[in-house]
Amino acid sequence: MESARPNAGEAHQRRFVPFNNPEDLPHRLGPAPSLIGREDHSISRKDIDRDSLRVLYGLKDHNYDAYLVGGAVRDLLMGKTPKDFDVATDARPRDLRRLFRNSREVGRRFRIVHVFFGQKNVECATLRAAVEPNGDNNGELYIEDDNQWGDLETDAYRRDFTINALYYDIRDFSLIDYTGGVRDIAAKIIRCVGDPQVRFREDPVRMLRAIKFAARFNFTFDPDTERALRELQGEILKASRFRVTEEIFRIITQANRTAGLKMLVDFGFMGVLYPDWTVALGEAGIEQVIDYFTAIDKAAEAECYFPLEVITTGLFIPLLDSVDVSRDQFHKVAARVTQEVRSVGNRMDLPKRLVNSAVEILRGQLYLLFFAHMNKRVRRYVSAPFFDLVWRVNQLAFGDLPELAEINDVWLSARKSLGSAIGGTVDSPDRRDIFSFRGKTGGGRHGHSGRRDRRFARDAVLDEVLEGAEDEGFDDESIDQETATWEDGDEAEG
Ligand code: ATP
Ligand code: MG
Repeated sequence: MESARPNAGEAHQRRFVPFNNPEDLPHRLGPAPSLIGREDHSISRKDIDRDSLRVLYGLKDHNYDAYLVGGAVRDLLMGKTPKDFDVATDARPRDLRRLFRNSREVGRRFRIVHVFFGQKNVECATLRAAVEPNGDNNGELYIEDDNQWGDLETDAYRRDFTINALYYDIRDFSLIDYTGGVRDIAAKIIRCVGDPQVRFREDPVRMLRAIKFAARFNFTFDPDTERALRELQGEILKASRFRVTEEIFRIITQANRTAGLKMLVDFGFMGVLYPDWTVALGEAGIEQVIDYFTAIDKAAEAECYFPLEVITTGLFIPLLDSVDVSRDQFHKVAARVTQEVRSVGNRMDLPKRLVNSAVEILRGQLYLLFFAHMNKRVRRYVSAPFFDLVWRVNQLAFGDLPELAEINDVWLSARKSLGSAIGGTVDSPDRRDIFSFRGKTGGGRHGHSGRRDRRFARDAVLDEVLEGAEDEGFDDESIDQETATWEDGDEAEG
């Protein structure tokens, strides 16, 4: 770390004594914030990631303002372990780069600095200016001037929900709350910062984020936020297709995915985003998916987790219609299911790779039905590398159907006779994002190197499932066009 404070101009010369009085904090846009002293909240430094503390202190020691912000503060207040730690500061990106040699700049329009410690990043963002009220900002421009930077207040008002707009000040360990986030965490409420009608139109992905957080924490919506969700779900089509799929993934891979799916259905997002899926499944089919996700949620409570392939296959289970094994032919039924899942799945913007694995796993369900009486096939199939995935899906979807008990016994005892433990599960919740489905090389610039090995190990199994299947999905170009985050502009794209 270097000692220089290169452009210690205006703001930097001011006080670096702790704010004792909320009135001392900037507040032109609204009332003075609440200031919650160390003794009045539950966040303790020992719960904060050490490297993030290093960054916070590094900034403080050089007389910058430095706050822990966003999801980390929210999670710590709720007594949960945060996934990642974001830092907000009045230091500019170039100051951050100078201060922390182990850093790099990311982001296209608004630059964020990642300070990296081994495989971990601490994300540092300079306090942001208020949103241009009439959308004068051209989302395409890389703004070089200083107007994009703001203070604590403008930064708070740009955030999506009150529970995500809390700041932990490293100087005196107080919490600064401009928008009532502390109260909303206590009351378990998701509330937009500002007017939900405006904030959801500005960035429709916020609607999916609202559902994600409500489901994850078992929160309710404040009435205005809920009304906006009911009225504006159609706006979601204006958002980046890529960001949408990413949020949908997050919802169905986090805990309480059943609650998340129900909200997506009830507020009409599934209908708007996935009309073919919604029509093909019908209400009864959607109920079936909800049951499947309930089974996955239950397993997760018992610390049994499934790979994304098993989770997403659940979306298509209802497309397996009933078959009469004595009359129908496997290859005909399988061809029909393959065709339908491909056609519905590919129009859902899911990575092709995941659609393909759903197809294979569903064909596997038919295989179990058709060939349980053929000893040789049973023996061969249970030793196929993807059998365990097929089996897990079978158990999650049909495990409690008495009419299948006999057939399932055949497969289970054949599988057990191999002697090895049944796979098809993962050690911890599968948090692979869409980037990891870009192809066999995986990763790309958003690759998570820390998880790469585990992911590749599992992909080796999947590669066999997908043998011969084309692997298109999101190609690099469309990803590059669509990796915009909220930091890349407030307006909806497209
Ligand atoms: P998670 O635990 O899922 O990471 P998070 O709250 O940390 O939740 P991130 O997506 O990591 O969510 O974003 C970090 C912070 O950035 C949020 O807490 C919020 O303050 C702000 N933010 C993220 N996305 C938006 C958005 N679309 N609009 C406004 N603010 C956003
Ligand atoms: Mg986060």
